[in-house]
Amino acid sequence: MLDGLRDAVRKFLGSSDYEKAVNEFIKELQIILIKADVNVRLVKDLTDRIKKRITEEKPPSAIEKREWFISIVYDELSRLFGGDKEPEVMPKKLPYIIMLVGVQGSGKTTTSGKLALFYKKKGYKVGLVAADIYRPAAYEQLIQIGQQINIPVYGEPGNKNPIEIATNGLEKFLKEKMNIVIIDTAGRHGYGEEASLLEEMKSMYDKIHPDEVILVIDASIGQKAYDLASRFHQASPIGSLIVSKMDGTAKGGGALSAVIATGAQIKFIGTGEKLDELEVFNPRRFVSRLLGLGDIESIIEKIKSVEDYENLEKRMEDVISGKTKLTLRDIYKQLIALRKMGPLGKIFQMLPGAGILSQVPEEQLKLGEEKIRTFMAIMNSMTYKELDNPSIIDKARMRRIAKGAGVTVEEVKELLKQYQMTNNLLKMVKRRKGLAKLFGGSN
Ligand code: GDP
Ligand code: MG
Repeated sequence: MLDGLRDAVRKFLGSSDYEKAVNEFIKELQIILIKADVNVRLVKDLTDRIKKRITEEKPPSAIEKREWFISIVYDELSRLFGGDKEPEVMPKKLPYIIMLVGVQGSGKTTTSGKLALFYKKKGYKVGLVAADIYRPAAYEQLIQIGQQINIPVYGEPGNKNPIEIATNGLEKFLKEKMNIVIIDTAGRHGYGEEASLLEEMKSMYDKIHPDEVILVIDASIGQKAYDLASRFHQASPIGSLIVSKMDGTAKGGGALSAVIATGAQIKFIGTGEKLDELEVFNPRRFVSRLLGLGDIESIIEKIKSVEDYENLEKRMEDVISGKTKLTLRDIYKQLIALRKMGPLGKIFQMLPGAGILSQVPEEQLKLGEEKIRTFMAIMNSMTYKELDNPSIIDKARMRRIAKGAGVTVEEVKELLKQYQMTNNLLKMVKRRKGLAKLFGGSN
């Protein structure tokens, strides 16, 4: 299943021959996706796009090629799930009728409570209808959920006709001017009775005409997802999906098959048994789980910090050319960017960028890790105003900052002195540059 992706990523990142590893990874990706019942054409499009991007694009400096490759795979897979777009979860009309379907145990009843709470928090009036007549105590289960979140529940214990219950409940709630009505239905009710269940879904759909049918699937469903989703889809057109139990060990690979089988979008994921444990689906987060969260996160973080650093370098060029003034905020950002990128220590050497301090003796610029940590703590205690304009930092401010950072006033003064020194150096270099230009030098 798609869960194999994580192993493939691990293997790839640990490989030695890049070209060979890329080819192997792409092949493996294709096999994994096809095995997960992803349409062959779609798989080919995906891998073609990845191949195209790695020939046309260049990895950012300081990023390992293999990591960069995985970030592209991540990007393209995320696009399959909707990319940067979060799904539309607000009702497009009012009143809005939602019917939840899915096999028994997938989490329908819990999810109907979660949805009710979600929409209630958004200010909608929500009613729940208990239309599962097969599961023992299904009605009581929903009543209990309704009590927890203070949502009215309609049910008819004893009535064996779910369509009748749904119709009556809907009528009552609409009369009461509810904005959203959620109908919780039955799962499979006994071996070999699936066909009759799907028939029942179909009749209910035809009678109720819900605005949206949501299929709830368990994250661990795996291979069966495609088949299951298509069968439900034939009975009543699935408008969207909710993947429950994403807090478990399964990474939800089957969800992609369900997405493809129904053409529907995943709207929410369930992340626990509690009723507030429902999240709006985020494609990127989901794919990073599929690929192995830790690995992807650190790669993306690294790429982002390189980008941040490059932006800072650009800004430093403006500082050096005299377009803008160096502030403590610049120093702060550089420290953070550099710290993410690698070992500390050489930081102040690199500080104003562009090798500008090469004329200054190294010893003068070296700062120990301890000192850098102290400086970061101090800057963390400053306001943006102070960072942008350190000249406003008087004695009283120094005391406040020192207290906030857990350091002495002396240490705050030392940072300010360092800043002043850097600024003086900059001025000096600028002047030299100016002179050099005057005398026709290239620098
Ligand atoms: P239904 O048969 O489809 O109505 O499923 P239920 O709503 O009764 O849920 C079956 C079991 O799954 C219950 O024990 C729920 O507490 C549990 N459950 C539902 N959603 C989640 C979830 O997102 N995370 C976890 N950990 N458990 C869930
Ligand atoms: Mg149920």
